[in-house]
Parts: sequence; C-alpha cells; structure tokens
Amino acid sequence: MDQHASPTKVTAIAGDGIGPEVMRATQAVLAAAGARIEWEDAVAGAEAFRKGVGSGAPQETLDSIAANRVALKGPLETPVGFGEKSANVTLRKVFEMYANIRPVREIPGIRTPFAGRGIDFVVVRENVEDLYAGIEHMQTPGVAQCLKVITEAGCERIVAMAAALAEAEGRRKVTVATKANIMKLTEGMMKRVGERVLKEHPSLVHEHMIVDNAAHQMVVRPEQFDVCVMTNMNGDILSDLAAGLVGGLGVAPSSNIGDEVAMFEAVHGSAPQIAGQGLANPTALLLSSVMMLRHIGDFATARRVEHALYVTLEEGRDLTGDIAAPGQGVGTDAYVARVIANLGRE
Ligand code: NAD
Repeated sequence: MDQHASPTKVTAIAGDGIGPEVMRATQAVLAAAGARIEWEDAVAGAEAFRKGVGSGAPQETLDSIAANRVALKGPLETPVGFGEKSANVTLRKVFEMYANIRPVREIPGIRTPFAGRGIDFVVVRENVEDLYAGIEHMQTPGVAQCLKVITEAGCERIVAMAAALAEAEGRRKVTVATKANIMKLTEGMMKRVGERVLKEHPSLVHEHMIVDNAAHQMVVRPEQFDVCVMTNMNGDILSDLAAGLVGGLGVAPSSNIGDEVAMFEAVHGSAPQIAGQGLANPTALLLSSVMMLRHIGDFATARRVEHALYVTLEEGRDLTGDIAAPGQGVGTDAYVARVIANLGRE
C-alpha cells in the first residue's frame, strides 16, 4: 500500500462483553504496525437495544458501513432463546453479506490434540438464508415452526465464492457438505447446485459429503479438508467445531463478504464470564484484522502483524489464559505488549 495515500476509513464496532477489550488491543497493534486506518466508531448490539433500536443496528451505524464498505466488529450479545433478533443477523442481511469465510489453520505454538497434522482448510458458510432467515413463529401453543429458506441463487453465489477462494489460494478441493439425504429439496438444492457450479472449475476436485459425516471426518481426519462449503446453520456449527481443532474460539477469525461490503470479526461471542477483567484473548480479532488488511490491499502490514502474532504464540511467553500453559496466563495488555514488541522481528 502507498504510504502517502490517504488512510482507509474503517467502521469499528467494539460490541459487547469482551468486545471493547479485544477491539482496543487490535487497534493498538495495528497502530504500532503502522496501518494507515482512520477508524470511525459505531454502535451495535446491546447498547443499541438499550436505546430502543429494535434491529440492534442504528441508522448511523448502517450509514457508516455503507460509506466505508469495510468494518471491523466485536461480538454482539444476543439474548438466548428470547427477546430481540440478533444484530449480527441484521447487519449480514442489510448488506447482503452472503459469505462467511472462516479459515481453520494450525497456529504455531498452540497446543492441541491435533497439532502437527497439517490442518489448513477454509469453511465457507452461506450467511443469509436457511433457518437463520428469521421466519420463526408459534403455530399453536406448544408447537413452534421455523422455515428453512434456500434459494438456487443463494447456493450458486456461495459455491462460486468457495470455488473462487480455492483457486485464489491455490487450493485443490471443494467439499460441499449437506444434509441432502434427508432434506432433499433445501439441502438437496445446495448439493445439486454444487455439482453444477463446480463442473465449471475443472481444476478443482469436487466432493460431496453428508454433513454429519463431515463433522465426524473433521475430528478423525481434519487434514483431508481444503475448502468446505455449507448452508448457514450447518456451517455455523461445523466452523465452531473446526475452530476447536486449532486452538479454540480465542484464535478463530472470520470475514463476512458481500458484493458491496466486507465485515471482519472474531468467531467468538461476547464471553460475558470474563468481560471487563482484562483476560480476553484478542488473537481472533487480530487475525480477523489481518484478513481485513489484505482485503484493503495493505499486504505489508498484514504480513507484519501476522508474523508478530505467530512469533509470540510460538515463543509461548505472555499468552492469555485460554491458550497459555496451565497457571501461566497473563492479561490482554501484557499479551498485546509482547505482540507489539515482536512487530519488528521479520
Ligand atoms: P462465547 O464465544 O462468548 O464464549 C464461549 C466460551 O469461549 C466461553 O468460555 C468464553 O469465555 C470463551 N471465549 C470466547 N472468546 C474468548 C476470548 N477471546 N478469549 C478467551 N476466552 C474466550 O459464546 P457464548 O457464551 O455462547 O455467547 C455469549 C454471547 O455472545 C451470546 O449473547 C451470543 O449470542 C453472542 N455471540 C455473538 C457472536 C457474534 O457477535 N458474532 C458470536 C457468537 C456468540
């Protein structure tokens, strides 16, 4: 990126729970790394609900994202099982961010039962359809109904995105994981469209897997996956499983991509149990910010931040409690100081 160019404006939504802590940490590392970003703060989630904004995303926030077209977002709290709908779902729907990209890559220094297996795949999750489309109601007392909405156009664009990503990253195989054996029309549509779209990409190996077996395969032989594309809810669940293979939610990044807007966020939620205590691991949001830097074309800063993170994790000193050796965890600030100190170590 041209260092004389004007800074890139990015909407920053700190979010709820540990959100403000991991956002501050990420912005500090990016500033120390010399990223030329002008942050525009915006509100969504609990604070918006408190102010009576039923969608959880105030108009000013939507305007900011629409103008900047890039956002970095902390987690947004959603009452579980009652109350308002999710502000995350609102943002994804308003900007038609139809692809949720979740890389699953072994990270040096992170001890897991799977370390050394060479896990390196990407979950591509459809992000706006399916059972999360928001059509849910009580049919009669004691009977609730939720509609699973799958469209051919939605399947086409998500499989095309998975194929494009595979080609851009030099990957070989796209696995379409569905429940087409039971839901023949909805999940079956994803399977059929997958076959059709992937025929147009002869350089890629195409495979279909039933999604429950995909969950099993991800645990017994995760290194077989390269790009794995799924409908919304299956992708949501399996990508959390996949995050667990490589170190857990504290280190799992993601992006939400639409034709106009891209929003980068950690996979984790607001972690209310540890919020406000300076204990949160900011790695997931930091890795999401690395994806964001590449999206805006700042490859040099992306590489510098990623490298500093990997050096810090591999050295294993000053790590947060969720990934440190037992009894050796430090707080967010000490970890961030270590990452910043490692920025110069090319
Ligand atoms: P969670 O991800 O907040 O927490 C799950 C577990 O992981 C907890 O033990 C937590 O302490 C730990 N954890 C998560 N992130 C961590 C980090 N950065 N550092 C250290 N430990 C971390 O999931 P949850 O408890 O199921 O959800 C809490 C809230 O977050 C809910 O309101 C949920 O709706 C919301 N949520 C939001 C998003 C989002 O905004 N994208 C995603 C998931 C959940």
